[in-house]
Amino acid sequence: MNQSLLDTFEKKLTKQLAELEQQLGGQFDEERELQPPQVGDQIDHALDSRAEVLDRVSESEVKLIAKIKLALQRIKDGTYDQCGSCGEVIPLARLEAKPSVSLCLDCQIKHESQQTKRP
Ligand SMILES: [Zn+2]
Repeated sequence: MNQSLLDTFEKKLTKQLAELEQQLGGQFDEERELQPPQVGDQIDHALDSRAEVLDRVSESEVKLIAKIKLALQRIKDGTYDQCGSCGEVIPLARLEAKPSVSLCLDCQIKHESQQTKRP
């Protein structure tokens, strides 16, 4: 992926993140210095406890913020268009439709089917 495309995605994600954080009334300010969560199961694990603390915040917003932060980190690392699970290139159309994704479609489907099996 070329730099101007990366810049475009970074701007989109930064804007979306700012809007979400504003909606949440800046409750994430003090957590900004924390490491971004990792792909897959660890995201959900990290977010479960965070969602409990921020009980007025919808879990989906909390998850989306974490995904956006992860995506921004992946842009910095130069791994933005690589699947976080299998390492394949994520198709540009998929990233354009949903800039916060970090998995290719196959891995996303696998990940979601694993989640539904949990208690
Ligand atoms: Zn994959």
